[in-house]
Amino acid sequence: MAIKYVPEPFRIKVVEPLKMLTRQEREQAIAQAKYNMFGLRGEDCYIDLLTDSGTNAMSEDQWAGIMKGDEAYAGASSYYKLVDAAKDIFGYGYVQPVHQGRAAEKVLFPTFLSEGKIAISNMFFDTTRAHVILAGARPIDCVIPEAKDPSHRCKFKGNMDVEKLEQIILEKGAENVGLVVMTITNNSAGGQPVSLQNMRDVSAICKKYNIPLDIDAARYAENAYFVKRDEEECKDWPIKKIIKEMFSLADMFTMSAKKDTIVNMGGMIGVKDGESPLILKIKANCISFEGFYTYGGLNGRDLEALAIGLYEGIDENYLRYRIGQMEYLASRLDDAGIAYQAPVGGHGVFVDAAAMFPQIPYYEFPGQVLAIELYKEAGIRTCDIGSYMLGNDPDTNEQLHADFEFTRLAIPRRVYTQAHIDIMADALIAIKERAHEIKHGYRITWEPPILRHFQASLEPIED
Ligand SMILES: *Cc1c(COP(=O)(O)O)cnc(C)c1O
Repeated sequence: MAIKYVPEPFRIKVVEPLKMLTRQEREQAIAQAKYNMFGLRGEDCYIDLLTDSGTNAMSEDQWAGIMKGDEAYAGASSYYKLVDAAKDIFGYGYVQPVHQGRAAEKVLFPTFLSEGKIAISNMFFDTTRAHVILAGARPIDCVIPEAKDPSHRCKFKGNMDVEKLEQIILEKGAENVGLVVMTITNNSAGGQPVSLQNMRDVSAICKKYNIPLDIDAARYAENAYFVKRDEEECKDWPIKKIIKEMFSLADMFTMSAKKDTIVNMGGMIGVKDGESPLILKIKANCISFEGFYTYGGLNGRDLEALAIGLYEGIDENYLRYRIGQMEYLASRLDDAGIAYQAPVGGHGVFVDAAAMFPQIPYYEFPGQVLAIELYKEAGIRTCDIGSYMLGNDPDTNEQLHADFEFTRLAIPRRVYTQAHIDIMADALIAIKERAHEIKHGYRITWEPPILRHFQASLEPIED
C-alpha cells in the first residue's frame, strides 16, 4: 500500500496553464525532436521532469523581493541581504554570488587544480567533472560500493568510501591531490544523502593530509533533512544546526542555487575563513568571468530572491513535504514492483530502466527508451542517466557501458501536486505492463564530440 502523501505546506496563488497534446501529437513531437528529450519544446510537455534545476516555483515573498531588488552595480542592498543570510546559515566568513553552479566551479577550481593534479569526490556532477578537466586536472569518483546497486537499500548511499579515499591519496601522493569535493546530496548516485559522520571522517582525512575540502552544495538542505531523519545523533537538531555542523567541516563550498535555494537562476561560493588569501583570487576571477563581486553575474532582484529562498529552502515543514513527494512516488513503484535507485533520494526517482527492459542492451539505451515511452504515454519529459548520457571512450571512440541505466524523474520544487505524481506512477505502471513488447532501442544518427546527450539525434531500431 502506498504511503500517505504529505500535504503541501502552501496554497496556490498563481497558475500556469498546461497544454495537453494527444498521443499522436506527442509521437510526432518526439520524432521531430529526433528522439532527444532536450529537443522538445517545453510547452509540449504536460509534466516536465527533465530537471529540478531552475524549474522551481518562487513564493509570494520572493516575487515581492523581485520588486525590491537593488540594481546598484556595486554594493547593492540585495547583495548585503544575501551575504547576511548565507553567513547566518553556513557560518562562513566570505560569500560570493555567481550566476550558477558551474560558474562557481569555473571561478574556484583553477585556484586549486592544474596539470598533474587530481580531484577526488564521492561522485562528481557532470559540469563539476568538466571543470576539473578544464583546469587540467583529473577527477576520481570514490563513492561507497553500495551506491552502484540500485536494489540495495541502505542509509546514506551517497557517502564517500573513506578507506578508498585514503588509499587513493597515499597512492597518488597527497601533494598531487588538489581538492576533495563532497557532493551533498550525491546527485549522480540518485540524489542519495551523505551522513554527518561520513563528512566528519572525510574532513579528518583532508586535515591529516592537508588537502582542501569543498562541498558541492546544490542540495545541502535536502541532505540535512535526511541527516535529521536517519542519523540518531541529529534527530532532535534543527535543520539549521545540521547545516552549520556539516559546513564547519569543510573549507569552502560551491553551490548551484537553482536547486535547494528555490530560485530560477543563481549560485554561490563560500569560504569559511573570511581572511583567506583565496578570497582575492576569487574576486579577481569573478570580475573577469562573472561580473563585479557584489553581483557576480546576477541581477539585484535575483540576489534578493536568493536571499529569501535560502530560508524557505531550509524550512523543516517544507522539507518534509518535499522528501515526502519522493517517498510517495517511490512507494507506488514498490507496490507495482518497479525497480529504482532505492531507497529514494532527495530530488527525484531514478527508475532502473535496465530492469524494466532486460531485452534491450546498453548500447540501445534502455534509459532513453523509457524516457521516450513516458513522453508518448503521458507527456512526461524525463531524461536518461545511463550509457546514452555517458557517451564514448575518448581514446577508442567505443560506446561506454554505464554502471546504471536510469531514467530520471527529477521533481521541480513546489510545482506539481499529488495528482501529477499519481500520473507519473500510473504511466510507469502502464509501460511496465507492455515493456516486453518493446523489442529494440535507439541508435544515434548524429552526435557532437562531448556532452552528446544534449544535442544528439536518434532513431528507433526496427526489426
Ligand atoms: C546542478 C549541479 C551543479 C551545476 O550547477 P548549475 O547551476 O547547473 O551550473 C553542480 N553540482 C551539482 C551536484 C549539481 O546538481
